[in-house]
Amino acid sequence: MPQRLALFLLAFSLSAQTTVIKAQRMLDMQSGRIISPATLVVTGTVITAVNPAISPTGATVIDLGDTTLLPGFIDMHVHVLLTGAARYRADIVADTPADAVLRASVNARKILMAGFTTIRELGQIHPTKDLLAVSLANAGDAGWIDAPRIIAAGHAISVSGGHIDPEMHARVMPGLFRLGPEEGIADGADEAVKATRLQIKKGARVIKISATAGVMSLEATVGAQQMTEAEMKAVVDEAARHGVKVAAHAHGTEGIIAAIKTGVASIEHGSMLNDEAIRLMKERGTYLVPTTHLADTIDFSALPPAVKQKGDYVLPLARANLSKAIKAGVKIALGTDAPLVPFGQNAKEFGAMVDRGLSPLDSLRAGTSNAADLLGLTDRGQLTQGKLADIVAVPGNPLENIRATENVVFVMKGGKIYCRP
Ligand SMILES: [Zn+2]
Repeated sequence: MPQRLALFLLAFSLSAQTTVIKAQRMLDMQSGRIISPATLVVTGTVITAVNPAISPTGATVIDLGDTTLLPGFIDMHVHVLLTGAARYRADIVADTPADAVLRASVNARKILMAGFTTIRELGQIHPTKDLLAVSLANAGDAGWIDAPRIIAAGHAISVSGGHIDPEMHARVMPGLFRLGPEEGIADGADEAVKATRLQIKKGARVIKISATAGVMSLEATVGAQQMTEAEMKAVVDEAARHGVKVAAHAHGTEGIIAAIKTGVASIEHGSMLNDEAIRLMKERGTYLVPTTHLADTIDFSALPPAVKQKGDYVLPLARANLSKAIKAGVKIALGTDAPLVPFGQNAKEFGAMVDRGLSPLDSLRAGTSNAADLLGLTDRGQLTQGKLADIVAVPGNPLENIRATENVVFVMKGGKIYCRP
């Protein structure tokens, strides 16, 4: 260690509280190897040592026994402001912004307690101009509420009548909400640029676009391309000028390919990926966020019959094409589309990805180091010196039983313990 860093860490450790976390194992995300036994030293908000020769004196020691330490999980596709599939349409119309944020604070806590210390909030569907998830993110960062770190998209950008137009979810008199670029509704490249600028101005740290139609919205098809390539490119180029990445909701093949070509960082869902799309994703390094657990569990009974029909058509395709993408080596990051997976059950996505053919190690990487890479953040996703002290522990060895991720016994975010045995 360079002497100056050592002095800094020493000075830091004298002023901030030090915690030593011991467990039978930890997973080194980079090598994929289990390190046993494991000791992490946390000083203030960061990891200051991994398996040091000498443990610091005067520190609080937590021994987690037969568990494995992992980096805090990261979910790349959450809608923390929504309620479950059966209720959210009514809430879009009835909720005040305050209602939505207060309810979301409870949902955010459930996600954190499940071991997810960072989430990407991919777009509210609410006619308010405010970016509610940005407020939630700020409340979490300030310690007012127990919440993961939230990277918020604000309003997702959609064409008029597109998948994320609120009027395509809640049945209201058409035109009632009078939505425009401020609420993410944009037609033509100029409005797409304006919508992007307005989200970033209000605190969005990622931009979500709706490249194609979707399952839950009320348009006739599930996969039709909705944004033109020119509109998508306008968003991607403008976001890039701010150093912001773009996530594209896309089910249909044409929309997926157009989105990849314009330079989005991730394809969300990607249900109708074909060989050409897979080749382009590998060539460009585009991530796939497959949101696949919901394909096994979504309950269509309380949804309109047309929505169920779209789901019955597209979800089997999504499952099969994900297995193809995994085999081909497309980069994968974990996303649940919660609340389509109930808040707090986000870790079920790890097992679902393994069911589709991903190895347990790569599934864990999808929800930690790969997700951090997709966010463009180097401060998390690994348990190494200098990273944020976002640490979870699961019982036993998750490489032998991936479902252990569903029973997190210890959650630390930024050095603060939220859950322990
Ligand atoms: Zn979604």
